[in-house]
Amino acid sequence: MTRTRAIALLALTLLAGTSATLAQTAAASRTRPHVEFLASDTLEGREAGSPGERLAADYVAAQLARLGARPLPGRADLFLPFEFTAGSRDGGSQIVVTRGAEARTFTGTTQVQALSFSDDAEVSGPVVFAGYGLVVPESQNFGYDSYATLDVKDTIVVVLRYFPEDADEKTRAILARYSDLRYKAMAARQRGARALLVVTGPRSPNAGQVVPMTFDTALAGSGIPAASVSGELADALFASGKPLRDLQQELDSGNPHVAGFELPGVTLTLRTSVVRERHTARNVVAYLPATMPVPASARPWVAIGAHYDHLGRGGHGNSLASKEDAGGIHHGADDNASGTAAVLAIAETLARSTEPRRRHVLIAFWSAEEIGLVGSNAFTTKPPVPIEQVAAYINFDMVGRMQENRLIVQATGTSPSWARLLERLNVAAGFDLAVQPDPYQPSDVANFNQAGVPSLMLFTGSHPDYHKPSDTSDKINYEDLDRIVVFGAALTRSLTDLDEAPQFTKVDQPTTRASIAGVRMTTGTIPDYATEVKGLLLAGVMGGGPAERAGLMKGDVIVEIAGKTIANIYDYTYALELLRADQPVTVVYMRNGERRETVLTPAARR
Ligand SMILES: [Zn+2]
Ligand SMILES: [Zn+2]
Repeated sequence: MTRTRAIALLALTLLAGTSATLAQTAAASRTRPHVEFLASDTLEGREAGSPGERLAADYVAAQLARLGARPLPGRADLFLPFEFTAGSRDGGSQIVVTRGAEARTFTGTTQVQALSFSDDAEVSGPVVFAGYGLVVPESQNFGYDSYATLDVKDTIVVVLRYFPEDADEKTRAILARYSDLRYKAMAARQRGARALLVVTGPRSPNAGQVVPMTFDTALAGSGIPAASVSGELADALFASGKPLRDLQQELDSGNPHVAGFELPGVTLTLRTSVVRERHTARNVVAYLPATMPVPASARPWVAIGAHYDHLGRGGHGNSLASKEDAGGIHHGADDNASGTAAVLAIAETLARSTEPRRRHVLIAFWSAEEIGLVGSNAFTTKPPVPIEQVAAYINFDMVGRMQENRLIVQATGTSPSWARLLERLNVAAGFDLAVQPDPYQPSDVANFNQAGVPSLMLFTGSHPDYHKPSDTSDKINYEDLDRIVVFGAALTRSLTDLDEAPQFTKVDQPTTRASIAGVRMTTGTIPDYATEVKGLLLAGVMGGGPAERAGLMKGDVIVEIAGKTIANIYDYTYALELLRADQPVTVVYMRNGERRETVLTPAARR
């Protein structure tokens, strides 16, 4: 559904006469001051939990107070704090290598450092070298299994980081996919190993160095203690046989038949400790009360929102900065100072309006969106107003870089009311609307869809500055951003005026989905990334998808699929690799503390 701008321009010309339109065009942008402040160096990229983010929240709250918006019923102020995991560090992991009567202790993060997904534990056992620790699933039609001739049950497995260095390009391309350390840890765990140690081989980049502790947004551990160790420690392990360099060279051809072995006479004790840093961030939420009695049957709230956090200096993995720009302030002018400014300006329009309002307007600014939609998830999980009383939610994320009049409206599949309403409002606005029904977007709108609220997301498209320091306020198209404010205000007002709240429609199998690259199967599950559990907690299931047909529901925790235990989202992703379309598998899951089983038939991903 699109409308040409020409018709709208004509309509405007006919309606407006001259002076009012000209005066508005000449007026200063309403959104520009907000964007310029939020995207300034002072706020240092507004990373969730940082001083810059707190300044941004204070600014937004002050703006809301200025225009007369109120704290939600029962609350004293506009801040809704929530906790999240901001990163992890080693809490003092240690290894003791015993050979005969001699014991040597290794401490300090240059010698031994837990991997970010490690479980905390202390384990001892004999040590088995398992080459690169790689297992390529059968489905890849490529044989490589570091454990093919090894029994690693109750042992501590030592593997090389990365994948064979000298293999041909095609082999490397396949092996690279399975060289993720989480995958190596899972492979070891599933063969009964007590722990996994990773060493960066002498022939590899970063030889002998421990693996940096990376940011890992998953809260759950991998179900096995896992650490990386120094070259010095590796030398102590391999002291009595072939040196590690020679062992690596044999493996580096890519020959899958080079066997691992138990290190003679060595036992090892590993203690791992990972400190996951909990931080607090704040959603900022206010409301404009209805000025008329709300019809009893209607859902009395309409919500609008935008995330105001961004990537800080991009240190946590989702920055797209080039090498030269790495570590710079990620200004986030479009993502999402633009949406924040739009929602503030819409709120101001509504607050100033003298027309009666038949529903309350909830105005929300989310934090920690960039690390997994955490703020809006905290809100919809424990809603401060009953979520079933929310008639609709409109999300604004990246609305500042409109090109050629194109406004993308996503999640329109969430209600049959959207198409007509948008078309009607766009007569005055005159955008070229690009409508996308899919609500399973990588933005806060996904959480509202999940909560059963008819939702929309406005978006002006991605661009080369996305998630880079160069997403700056001078590149914002303020003229069109201000037009989105007018459109958004009209949309919100229409929703407050409706006699009947829009009906919610559950959207079937999404047409596009932010997915883990290369996964070709779908089970139709929607994982909950934000809650800490052992297993895969479902935030929901896709309408009409395999999981729904298998009777799985929101809140179920999948602990096993096709005979593979699932400790976390990564296990689940890897397990998907083994599935085949239309071949039923058994899924074991927990519901209300009870262990249950069902049969699920995966489908090929479109
Ligand atoms: Zn965003
Ligand atoms: Zn972003």
